[in-house]
Amino acid sequence: MKSLLDKRLDNSHLLRREQAELLLAEMEIANYGQLLVFLPYRYEDRSIFHNLSQLNSAQTTLHVQGTLGQMRLIRGAMKSRLVASFSDGRKTIDLIWFNQIHWIQKKMLPGHRYVLYGKISTFQDQRVVIHPELTPLATYQDKQISILPLYHTTKKLLKVQVNTVLLARLQKNILQEVAGHIPENLPSFFVQQHQLLSREVTLRALHFPADQRELARAQYRFKLEELFFLQLRLARLNRANDSREKSFIFSNHSLLLHFQKDYLPFQLTLDQEKALQAIIADLGTDRQMNRLLQGDVGSGKTIVAFLSSLLPIADQAQVAVLVPTEILALQHATTLQKYAAPFALKIALLTGSTTTKTREEILRKLADGSIDMIVGTHALLQEGVTFARLGLLIIDEQHRFGVAQRAKLWHQSYQQLRPHVLVMTATPIPRTLAMTLYSGLAITTIATLPPGRLPAKTYHCYDSHRLRLFGFLKKKIAEGRQACMVYPLIEESAKADYKYLIDGYESIKRAFPTIQVGILHSRMKPSDKTWEMNRFFRGETQIMVATTVIEVGVNVPNATIMVVENAERFGLAQLHQLRGRIKRSSHQPYCFLMTAEKISQIAAKRIQAMVQTDDGFSIAEVDLKLRGPGNLVGLQQSGILKLRLANLAEDEHLVKKARKAIRYLLNDDPYLEKSDHQPMLNYLKWLAANTPEWEKVS
Ligand code: ADP
Ligand code: MG
Repeated sequence: MKSLLDKRLDNSHLLRREQAELLLAEMEIANYGQLLVFLPYRYEDRSIFHNLSQLNSAQTTLHVQGTLGQMRLIRGAMKSRLVASFSDGRKTIDLIWFNQIHWIQKKMLPGHRYVLYGKISTFQDQRVVIHPELTPLATYQDKQISILPLYHTTKKLLKVQVNTVLLARLQKNILQEVAGHIPENLPSFFVQQHQLLSREVTLRALHFPADQRELARAQYRFKLEELFFLQLRLARLNRANDSREKSFIFSNHSLLLHFQKDYLPFQLTLDQEKALQAIIADLGTDRQMNRLLQGDVGSGKTIVAFLSSLLPIADQAQVAVLVPTEILALQHATTLQKYAAPFALKIALLTGSTTTKTREEILRKLADGSIDMIVGTHALLQEGVTFARLGLLIIDEQHRFGVAQRAKLWHQSYQQLRPHVLVMTATPIPRTLAMTLYSGLAITTIATLPPGRLPAKTYHCYDSHRLRLFGFLKKKIAEGRQACMVYPLIEESAKADYKYLIDGYESIKRAFPTIQVGILHSRMKPSDKTWEMNRFFRGETQIMVATTVIEVGVNVPNATIMVVENAERFGLAQLHQLRGRIKRSSHQPYCFLMTAEKISQIAAKRIQAMVQTDDGFSIAEVDLKLRGPGNLVGLQQSGILKLRLANLAEDEHLVKKARKAIRYLLNDDPYLEKSDHQPMLNYLKWLAANTPEWEKVS
């Protein structure tokens, strides 16, 4: 059903063809509906008039009624200027024009009353208004615009006169044209419960609010609406997945019980035990498991993954463990092989540097079922990797994988039954975000660390502290501890980073002549990486100078000191991950964040958060506030969180309200079949058709 909102702007008499085309190219706005949700980025409130005698120094704009004084033309060395004083009866301020002087001289009448609007600037130490807007008081009343919308444009758009004034006029015309044709899209119980403005009133008020109060109400409704439809869409997606995907029933506990009785290396924490029980329950039903296991770095997710794997394996199914880096794959393979040794399970490793011959053998054995468990990197996702019977897919450190990659794994269809999926992450997802994104996905949290772990002591240091820091390192190494010094990532092209790392390595060797120092970076051959890693692991090197290749998952419990160079260049989640490396024993961990003396404000906030808290959830909340939700959990590409007004970091209460309404709604009418709910379906369709990003999410 076509509606007026689908009317295209290039068919409209309101815009020239080239303007409409550019609006599409630059802003992805093609039709009336899309334009109406293109909201002002700011408003100028002209309902309040100022007194010139009561200006304070913080004030930046001026809105006064008064009388224009005589104009003087002043010739300057470079440019002439026109100056006039403007009086509100008590005080005056100078107005200055540099351009269009003749036109102003002709048009503006000294002695007449005007409404002045403009930015306050400083000129020759005087507060003045340069190029003010002057509207004759007589005509001002007719205009009746009190709160003025301001719209973003681009250079290209400005070239064809699509500026904020034109956009406002366009919005006004379209609002008039579609009046009475903007259907309500929210369920009526929800509108009534929260006394929401109608959708039509909301859109009008977002562009042309009568006053601040109406604007606030319109913004409130718009945010709720955004969060409602975001969550409704996700709830429907998740449920669709739920009911469609059939999976294996794994209920043979014999291997698991045997391992727990005879080989468990430590007692599980209560949270680990709970997580395991939840997974066991999921594996025992024929519906595909979609579980997120989140737990701070070092909380012990690996053993939970291993224990869970024993169920499918006991039933002759296979397990795949997907990890983001080679080093981590190697480590996981080693750990899992160690755990699995008593049962002689066949565990293989597949990465980009696996030789062709080995790879072929592995692929053959995966396909014929003689490999029980495979640990691998992206190499697992390539063509030609097929399993005899993949029962469980474990994805570690999922934030490293994009949504698209994840979806690919979810839906791989080389066998009739879907594998169960367990996603593990050490980047805890803040609560609001989790609520929104994963309304269908089960989440388990390991909130406590294994017993005896100490929080890291974290310090912000400058170059001037280096000598003292080295002294401290010497002392700790003498006590038997090991240390990591981390440098910013080496990119292919970043020669400077490489030099910096090598210089650092050389200077550490000079400063610690009697101590073994290793080096690890992404340009090294895989075999050299392994060699260095193993030396450090066995305690043959005391200091490891490395890039962020060690960021994820590397497990050397005796390494309890970490120095991060150029810490201002790291993201918050990354810093927290790094710090996690040194919290794996009962020795006190220390983390030193080295930065330049001068760093950006936002970098300073990150460092401050690191110094203040060691808790992953608090860190994730701060990260969400500093970066916005789109950058977390591998969602960069998805765009699904590009909300126009709502903010997942700040609007938690609205997320909850919308969520409650959706639960109520779907309880009553799970497939939105009631005729009352047709407008909601229509709107979901409209969103899918008019919000390109939405389609990319699956
Ligand atoms: P992460 O959750 O970061 O993947 P790991 O699974 O690598 O953490 O575990 C971190 C360290 O804690 C490992 O050395 C592991 O052997 C140890 N560990 C895990 N669970 C326990 C426990 N319940 N008691 C003692 N040590 C544990
Ligand atoms: Mg891990």
